[in-house]
Amino acid sequence: MDCLFCKIAAGEIPSKKVYEDEQVYAFYDIEPQAPVHVLLIPKTHIASAAEITAENSAVVAHIFEVAAQIAKELGLDDGFRIVSNCGESAGQTVKHLHFHLMGGRTFAWPAG
Ligand code: 5GP
Ligand code: ZN
Repeated sequence: MDCLFCKIAAGEIPSKKVYEDEQVYAFYDIEPQAPVHVLLIPKTHIASAAEITAENSAVVAHIFEVAAQIAKELGLDDGFRIVSNCGESAGQTVKHLHFHLMGGRTFAWPAG
């Protein structure tokens, strides 16, 4: 499958790794929108948050555990934001489920 994030998770395209285990890969966003901007992805291909099901959702719970750990390790003690853009109107540009973990600044709400 011609998927950018599948290739990044497989190490076929280089990235700046933050964390990796059997299920999850986390790496720095190439175009950071905050002082800390990490992407967390399942290693298995899930196209978007709209494709999360009872069968594949365990990895999503695991991603949130990893995100909390990364936030601690990167010193985001004042807070952070986790976002997943899903579909065109939300601005999803890569069609492989990913969660943006951003911190190091304040964030407006509601977002954009
Ligand atoms: P989306 O727009 O789908 O919510 O998020 C996709 C994110 O992937 C964007 O923040 C974009 O900067 C990031 N991105 C796109 N291509 C690459 C890449 O080749 N490497 C890295 N590290 N990030 C990428
Ligand atoms: Zn993929």
